[in-house]
Amino acid sequence: SSVPDVTLANGVRMPQLGFGVWQVPDDQAETAVAHALAAGYRSIDTAAIYRNEQGTGRTLAASGVPRDEVFVTTKLWNSASETWTRDAVLREFDASLDRLGLDQVDLYLIHWPRPMRDDYVTIVRAFADIAASGRARAVGTSNFHPPHLRRVVAETGVVPAVNQIELHPYLQQSELRALHTELGIATEAWSPLGQGKGLLDDATLGRIAAKHGRTPAQAVLRWHLQVGNVVIPKSVTPSRIAENIDVFDFALDADDLAAIAALDRGTRFGGNPDTFD
Ligand code: NAD
Repeated sequence: SSVPDVTLANGVRMPQLGFGVWQVPDDQAETAVAHALAAGYRSIDTAAIYRNEQGTGRTLAASGVPRDEVFVTTKLWNSASETWTRDAVLREFDASLDRLGLDQVDLYLIHWPRPMRDDYVTIVRAFADIAASGRARAVGTSNFHPPHLRRVVAETGVVPAVNQIELHPYLQQSELRALHTELGIATEAWSPLGQGKGLLDDATLGRIAAKHGRTPAQAVLRWHLQVGNVVIPKSVTPSRIAENIDVFDFALDADDLAAIAALDRGTRFGGNPDTFD
């Protein structure tokens, strides 16, 4: 039961399921990432603001897994500087590479659009230069809403390879997903399990999980995979880390997918990209 890849617009292949390390302290990141690699994960989602790029990088280096078999994502924290300039972005990217102990990442994302700062077009241009240098195999965005994506494409011609957004059965993001399809952007779901807050107690999800002899978390992850999302569930518990990747030997049916589609209710567990600063 190995993880399939999605192919990004530039041809780079990205595992459809990876491991997220938000809120994992740097010293615990080594243990958690080691468990994830042992369980078969080959994609790790970190960020400068998670303060665990160093632990993540150390674990990758010690794991013995060849570098080209692991897909590493990190993100520019765009509150680290008031308003980003091109040079500051390039310096911050170098700092992330140093912390990770890598000379290349697979995906570099702008963490938030922060439209009130009006600097994301500048950042996208700098990211395009980073991609051209080969030090990021792909570049993209996170938390960009349709107006932000349309402005980036109109003003720079750059189409993000990925837009990583909050997405789970209570926030299904149909408008963004349609725009991603139109523009050729891969949809990556953050908080795919709704941060474990309530979503996993949903009665409909419980019924579907029981029908397949699976847990609610596995049913939700299976839904993401079947609708085409890239997912990056997080856990520090070894049994859950293993459970969350053990989702490739069953399938939801059309009734299950319709029942989950009906759960959409616009609930955000994280920040709203229009106002988050
Ligand atoms: P998640 O939806 O992955 O939920 C994680 C929580 O769910 C765990 O802490 C645990 O409480 C619970 N859980 C996990 N596996 C479980 C299981 N099998 N059974 C029962 N409960 C389980 O939430 P997340 O950590 O917010 O999101 C995942 C990743 O997405 C993050 O680690 C991070 O990499 C990324 N992320 C990105 C952004 C962004 O702005 N780009 C924001 C939030 C998260």
